[in-house]
Amino acid sequence: MTSDQDNGRAAVGRDTLESTMWDATAEPEPKTDILQGRVEADVAVVGSGITGMSTALHLAEAGKSVTVLEAKRIGWGCSSRNGGHMGSAWTSPPPDEAIRIWGQERGDRLNRLWTGSGKLVEDLIEKHGIDCNFKRTGMVWAAENGKQEKLLADMAEQWGRYGLQMDFLSRQAMTDYVATDQYISGALTHENASINPADFVRGLARAAMRAGAVIHAGSPAIGIEKQGDRWRVSSPEGEVLASRVVFGTNAYTVGPWPGLARTFYPVRLTSLATEPCAEESRSYLLKGMPLHDMNSLNFFALLMDPVGRLLGGAFPTFSDSASIETVARPFERKFRRIFPAAPLPKWRHIWHGTLCMMPDKTPRMYKLAPGAYAVMGLSGTGNARAAVLGREVANLIDSGEEETCGLWLSKPKTLLSSRLIPVFMRYAGYPVARALFR
Ligand SMILES: Cc1cc2nc3c(=O)[nH]c(=O)nc-3n(C[C@H](O)[C@H](O)[C@H](O)COP(=O)(O)OP(=O)(O)OC[C@H]3O[C@@H](n4cnc5c(N)ncnc54)[C@H](O)[C@@H]3O)c2cc1C
Repeated sequence: MTSDQDNGRAAVGRDTLESTMWDATAEPEPKTDILQGRVEADVAVVGSGITGMSTALHLAEAGKSVTVLEAKRIGWGCSSRNGGHMGSAWTSPPPDEAIRIWGQERGDRLNRLWTGSGKLVEDLIEKHGIDCNFKRTGMVWAAENGKQEKLLADMAEQWGRYGLQMDFLSRQAMTDYVATDQYISGALTHENASINPADFVRGLARAAMRAGAVIHAGSPAIGIEKQGDRWRVSSPEGEVLASRVVFGTNAYTVGPWPGLARTFYPVRLTSLATEPCAEESRSYLLKGMPLHDMNSLNFFALLMDPVGRLLGGAFPTFSDSASIETVARPFERKFRRIFPAAPLPKWRHIWHGTLCMMPDKTPRMYKLAPGAYAVMGLSGTGNARAAVLGREVANLIDSGEEETCGLWLSKPKTLLSSRLIPVFMRYAGYPVARALFR
């Protein structure tokens, strides 16, 4: 229990992991040492989120020696501060949209890759005995108007073609799942689950360490250069010499690969969690399934953790250090509209995170140079997809076959507006959208 909890105040944080509900309720991460001196490895992995840990685990299991450099704590980035929703079928982008953007062969490949991602997470949890409160809840997607309903119907039909079942819910059927009549219809995905993502990424780290990977938290990669046929990745107190290097640094990318941090939109997102609800007021989500509404302009998602804490996601307000009341206000306004009679327990945690967003919402596997790769652009759907892409980059390195990799390799492209668009959205786009689409 943190000192904030002891004295009954809610914890608010900027980018501290300590302000998240997950960190407060997870098992501590495994102890690691700061990298000191020179080490040699087959592969250097930069970043210890789900991408980096899945890469390290799959490589170590394939018999490769792996050294991981993490600038802060294990899983410090999005992986420990996200919404805790895990699933394969998302709206970004729906299957036919992926085919429209990438063409039949690539789009189809992408859709198949995502289709198996939830199962991979379940398999990893089971195989490595990861205790992360995994609960196969299913998820309710909710539509407030005809446009959203059509989107859901299309999604259900398209993911259905890939074997992911999504059931249509009429207005009446919706009221069996969510204690409100505000939604005109919805859909139910059976495969979705909730997890404590901090426990998940820490569990992956433990499994990778058991398989032989060495992790150095508190050891940022600050330089990289080619030395003969190997990469020399340097940190303040040491360096790794490795024939292959993988960046899994996502939205939190800092040095050393030039320009990598300018290849995506860093989009802020806020999460809020209440104190555990009293037993009698846990009834917003009647069957305990998380709710995800389709209003992309005033994002609203709810999940109840196993001890009854209500967790929501919202676009951020103007300042990360705003008071808990200010940050929670737009969320509360929407909550009250959807559940007019429901009690809302006291907020306990508010935290912020940064999504690594691509213009087409599709992650990338970059080939930065021979033997140097990066997995980027996991946006808000990475709990399962990052695990899959970590496995794919590990397979690529192990087999040496770039063509058979689940996600095709591409070259990084600088986005000229990479900083401008997120700033515009935060200070103009979201406030206007919230006012118009309550
Ligand atoms: C608020 C929020 C809510 C979300 N909700 C969900 C959800 O409900 N479901 C879902 O599926 N996804 C969700 N996501 C997205 C998901 O969390 C991410 O897509 C996923 O965790 C990305 O994992 P990653 O390993 O690629 O990156 P990260 O977890 O961000 O890890 C990157 C790591 O790289 C490290 N790093 C950066 N530069 C260096 C360097 N030079 N040297 C060493 N280390 C470095 C960072 O410190 C960090 O630990 C959410 C994201 C946010 C922000």
